[in-house]
Amino acid sequence: MILVEIVSDIHYHNSGILQKTRYILPEEVVDISTWCDFTRDKIRGDDPMGKHIVDEAKRCLQCKNPRCVKGCPISTPIPEMIDLLLEGSIHEAGEKLFKNNPLSLVCSLVCPHEKQCEGHCILGTKSNPVQISSIENYISDYSLDVMDLKAEEKLQGNIGIIGSGPAGITIAFILALKGYSVTIFEAHDQIGGVLRYGIPEFRLSKDILSRLKDKLVELGVVIRPNTLIGPVITLEDLFRDGFDAVFIGTGVWKPRKLNIKGESLGHVHYAIDYLKNPEVYDLGEKVYVIGAGNVAMDVARTALRKGAKEVTIMYRKGMEDIPAREYELEYAKIDGVKFELYKSPVEITKEGLVYVETEKVMDGEKEKLVTKDDSEGLFPCDSVIIAISQGPKANIVNNSKGIETDLRGLVVTDDAGRTTREGVFASGDVVTGAKTVVEAVRYSKDVAEAIHEYVSGKYKNMNEGQ
Ligand SMILES: Cc1cc2nc3c(=O)[nH]c(=O)nc-3n(C[C@H](O)[C@H](O)[C@H](O)COP(=O)(O)OP(=O)(O)OC[C@H]3O[C@@H](n4cnc5c(N)ncnc54)[C@H](O)[C@@H]3O)c2cc1C
Ligand code: SF4
Repeated sequence: MILVEIVSDIHYHNSGILQKTRYILPEEVVDISTWCDFTRDKIRGDDPMGKHIVDEAKRCLQCKNPRCVKGCPISTPIPEMIDLLLEGSIHEAGEKLFKNNPLSLVCSLVCPHEKQCEGHCILGTKSNPVQISSIENYISDYSLDVMDLKAEEKLQGNIGIIGSGPAGITIAFILALKGYSVTIFEAHDQIGGVLRYGIPEFRLSKDILSRLKDKLVELGVVIRPNTLIGPVITLEDLFRDGFDAVFIGTGVWKPRKLNIKGESLGHVHYAIDYLKNPEVYDLGEKVYVIGAGNVAMDVARTALRKGAKEVTIMYRKGMEDIPAREYELEYAKIDGVKFELYKSPVEITKEGLVYVETEKVMDGEKEKLVTKDDSEGLFPCDSVIIAISQGPKANIVNNSKGIETDLRGLVVTDDAGRTTREGVFASGDVVTGAKTVVEAVRYSKDVAEAIHEYVSGKYKNMNEGQ
């Protein structure tokens, strides 16, 4: 194995800075010729970004039955965007992308493309797929600020949106563009949800969220920050004050506990809390992260960037079982994250993390995980971060009437996001459990239409009754 820089992991940012991500691959499968052209152009002062995008766009076969679109959860019009780009209509391409997915720019950076569009591209069967994510990123980045967003008309109706993650932002854009008055209530001081307070800056520039906020404000959306709906302002207050419909897109922000001794000690933290503002934590030199999903990888990589000398992920199963994206795992390895596998935590002490070893055994036809006898040990460390998933908080459902939840506390809705209370809708992670950005956007598009139908119907009836 050698360490190489491959072109498929280059991201472009609005600032014009090229962010190279290194990736380990066996030497024989790496074609570095594009990379060499690229660096040469950069040295010469050409526009390597544009050149690379055009080269990639030209590789697209414009399939009649595009597999890339089928692989995209939100059916991004990929061949059309490429065609428009090549014919010199980048703004039209950008508008098409935005209309289909207001978070196209974000998705171009954080979606698991290898499983979605790029994983389905026909060219990937014999060589490299078209780098759809980079092309989408280039177009969406280019067009976002200059796009002229205007409401189609002014409609009667006042909509309250609780939470400004991908779900809330999507609903806000769609309904504001239709002409409704929209107010976002956000518990944090800035909009973005996990995009701002979860995904680290080195994976997603927060500048993008500020640019999206500017677009929302331009459309007349009112943003009320630092406002946790539930304990003080309730749903009843919102309806009293003239909101016709309320949308709940509050995500999953309650860390799952390990329920072991030592979890309340001062050097123990939960992943979702840590990622909010890692700079306020003093983790010391040696850190253990419990869990091996995408969030655990983000925590481990962030801790190393914030000065921890040694970060180890402890996981109860083997490397082949790690639930994180393959790319995230490789990036973590490159960053120097260490792994302790087949170990399960039993206690956290001031000295460190007490564990037992585990192993897989067959139970009839089924494999199961058991702990090994007399295998207890201690990993001395300065801090422990628990990253074993999140569930929903109950601020709204505990303080308002009529919103049914399931056994996990997730809000119960029908397919169009209608909750059990009239006029209240929900989508995103608070309904589906922890998923992805593109899933939250896709679902929210349908819910925005249901809110439109509800509010427009309400005013139609009122106006007819006059
Ligand atoms: C660390 C991390 C990394 C991730 N990385 C990726 C990735 O690379 N790619 C990907 O596709 N997905 C990723 N995800 C998943 C993705 O971010 C989520 O699926 C997505 O953000 C869900 O969107 P949402 O709008 O439902 O909720 P959220 O993004 O959670 O937003 C909810 C918002 O509601 C606000 N809120 C909550 N309660 C209240 C209240 N009572 N009153 C007012 N406001 C409230 C919160 O402050 C927050 O701003 C990641 C998740 C995490 C935790
Ligand atoms: S599958 Fe690949 S080649 Fe075909 S249209 Fe999509 S991006 Fe182009």
